[in-house]
Amino acid sequence: MGKNVLITGSSRGIGKETALYLAKNGFDIVLHCNSNIQKARETEEEVKSCGVNTRILQFDVKDRKQCFDIISKDIEENGVYFGVVLNAGIARDNVFPVMDEDEWDDVIDTNLGGFYNVLKPVVMPMIEKRVKGRIVTMSSISGLAGNRGQVNYSASKAGIIGATKALSLELAKRGITVNCVAPGIIETDMIKDVPVEEVKKMIPMKRTGKAKEVASLVNYLFSEDASYITGQVISVNGGLYL
Ligand code: NDP
Repeated sequence: MGKNVLITGSSRGIGKETALYLAKNGFDIVLHCNSNIQKARETEEEVKSCGVNTRILQFDVKDRKQCFDIISKDIEENGVYFGVVLNAGIARDNVFPVMDEDEWDDVIDTNLGGFYNVLKPVVMPMIEKRVKGRIVTMSSISGLAGNRGQVNYSASKAGIIGATKALSLELAKRGITVNCVAPGIIETDMIKDVPVEEVKKMIPMKRTGKAKEVASLVNYLFSEDASYITGQVISVNGGLYL
């Protein structure tokens, strides 16, 4: 049996590129989406053409029971995961004085709640089967530096950094590494409302990043070469520090 890697939010964007990168390196890919099953199926075809096994799980990372039931069933049927890329996430930007409670709850429950909901059913089987695997979480420059209009998103992404560091300490003696990637401005659907030309002026490299440039770092963190790296936050941002 191959090494299964679950990549949440891999129907599109950074998650999709990460799935393709890891597939090219021989990992079996457990794709995941929330609502966009059509995009996930397209990604599945591309992953298949890399010659590895793949399947799609569909669940809302906010829904704890759904996460537990679907992930546990998949592990029971297909074996323990070698690793997880905790990538699914959303932004709902608004300045804090007029941010409504749904905007706060939705972002915290998806981005930070998803950490607990997805990793809880995954980690114990990894420990029981003595898998010396990998967990990579997706934060953001917004979680490191804070960003205007993103109090909710910055809070969730800073929370992910704390959770990642704490979990890395708990799992270090098991040989499971837990690291965090913090992208800057990456060309995906998520930045479709961002005034990109204006933002580019603030980026020292004067360009936005590509999903593949984030995926290549995740791929490295999954490699044998990265087995002594844990508890780290690594940025991919063209030099931008907001
Ligand atoms: P996209 O908007 O392109 O894709 C988001 C993915 O997350 C989709 O696969 C989507 O599934 C999934 N998703 C969203 N909400 C849920 C949910 N409730 N339950 C399950 N899955 C969900 O995002 P990116 O690829 O740009 O972002 C990936 C990660 O990188 C996110 O965590 C984001 O915060 C982070 N990031 C992105 C940056 C950027 O500039 N793009 C910068 C910094 C960090 P579906 O297709 O079914 O809707």
